[in-house]
Amino acid sequence: MLARRDGFVTRLHDWAHQVRAKPVRDRAYADPSTACWRCGLTRAQVRAANPGRKVVWHAGHTGGRLDPLLAECSLCNWRNSAETTAAKRATSGGTGRF
Ligand SMILES: [Zn+2]
Repeated sequence: MLARRDGFVTRLHDWAHQVRAKPVRDRAYADPSTACWRCGLTRAQVRAANPGRKVVWHAGHTGGRLDPLLAECSLCNWRNSAETTAAKRATSGGTGRF
């Protein structure tokens, strides 16, 4: 067990994620043909399909903490984090803690 406390892991992950995420997002914005790894659409296509919604690039998790980050549209990213949060709640034994 490498994790000492939940907070330790979360801060480390936040830092590592920011360092790795920025170039992923920068590349996505620089290249209009970049497609979301989840839905396979470019940002322009996502916007066309979701008029009125703000669509930005995120660096999405493709698996575990050490798996590569890929460009992911904000609609997919928010949908996924909502599902992940719900799944964590369901397995936390009802304490509400992750
Ligand atoms: Zn998407």
